Amino acid sequence: MFHGKMKALTFSYDDGVTQDRRLLRIFEKYGLRGTFNLNSGLFGSAAAFYDEKKNRTFPHVRLRETEIAEVYAGHEVAVHSCTHPVLRNLPDEAIIREVEDDRKALSALVGYDVRGMAYPAGSGAGTPHVTEVIRANTPILYARTTVSTHTFDLPEDPLLWHPTVRHAEKDKALELAARFLALEPDTPQVFYIWGHAYEFERDDDWDWFDAFCRMISGRSDIFYGTNREILESAR
Ligand SMILES: [Zn+2]
Repeated sequence: MFHGKMKALTFSYDDGVTQDRRLLRIFEKYGLRGTFNLNSGLFGSAAAFYDEKKNRTFPHVRLRETEIAEVYAGHEVAVHSCTHPVLRNLPDEAIIREVEDDRKALSALVGYDVRGMAYPAGSGAGTPHVTEVIRANTPILYARTTVSTHTFDLPEDPLLWHPTVRHAEKDKALELAARFLALEPDTPQVFYIWGHAYEFERDDDWDWFDAFCRMISGRSDIFYGTNREILESAR
């Protein structure tokens, strides 16, 4: 149960890009909560990505260190490694350093003990060694993968927390939302949506996402929380 409710809903967004500000305005409008996975070694870095299908570029600019505490207040900040490497390509000591240095830097910025994580560059699922190194050497409580399950089950292993759906799978996300809203479960169920906020700009999806958030919000039988709140209240 999540604070007396059998259903919970959470979001997870990666890389700490400037589009997170607009995403957070939507979350705040509808009373939604999420977890934001940040790379403390890359704060303030600016790039532009090119989208072939749309033949245009869109900005991938990361928020600055001084903005983090203010922008993400009321939500959860979590580890995404210092520099966003493919962790499975690194020696164990470097994996630990990428996670722990990020965790400590973020904790200092936000003023609480950061314990969550999302694997960078999809480098979690299918690489059990990375997961075991993190489990044995860090206090990380959970780590999200990039593998959509299209189910609402809590993770068997929180260090391999597979989300329900990526928001960019729009039709699937809508179908799952309708199913989740109608659900009257006997066991705790979580609707877990993830992505990157720059995708809304790339795909012109802001209005779609606003409507999606309106649809899933405001339900008295759903607990809206951060990843960590959901995991801890489920115990
Ligand atoms: Zn990332």
